[in-house]
Amino acid sequence: MLEDMYVRGTQVNYYFVCKTKLWLFSKNVSMEQESDLVKLGSLLQRQFFGREEKDVSIGPIAIDVLRRGDEIEIVEVKKSDSIEKADYYQVLYYIYYLSKFGIKAKGRISYPKKKKVVEVRLEENKAIEEVLEKIAETLSGEMPKPEYKSYCRKCAYFEFCFCG
Ligand code: SF4
Repeated sequence: MLEDMYVRGTQVNYYFVCKTKLWLFSKNVSMEQESDLVKLGSLLQRQFFGREEKDVSIGPIAIDVLRRGDEIEIVEVKKSDSIEKADYYQVLYYIYYLSKFGIKAKGRISYPKKKKVVEVRLEENKAIEEVLEKIAETLSGEMPKPEYKSYCRKCAYFEFCFCG
């Protein structure tokens, strides 16, 4: 599944957040830098993980924090646990991606504001590979119609979706 290796972690996350957002982001309709929430994420990272290796890019994946030890640990820092499944699969994908290069890693999602941590381990490839297939399917079609959700107003694409 070589084509899967070009998928970005953010795309895996957006697959669970919103298919429209996944599509727009993937087609380079990027408005993310305008969002204050993105800035807040970077701020939290600096505040809570000051001495770790941060913002590590490997191919299409960008890991918030990387800890080297007997086993590599990937840490993803999130502001909110409102769409925990999206965060879980994002980190699962990072572990899967590294495993394709023979790198064994484990993951951890940190929600500093909630003082909550979720451990992630890659037990088998099937679940993440199914998600990657569905992402490819979504991107091969027309833009999915925007459907209003409780978090749309905080989304960088809100005006694009609902104020056109
Ligand atoms: S505003 Fe809502 S429907 Fe539009 S991309 Fe964002 S989350 Fe999806």
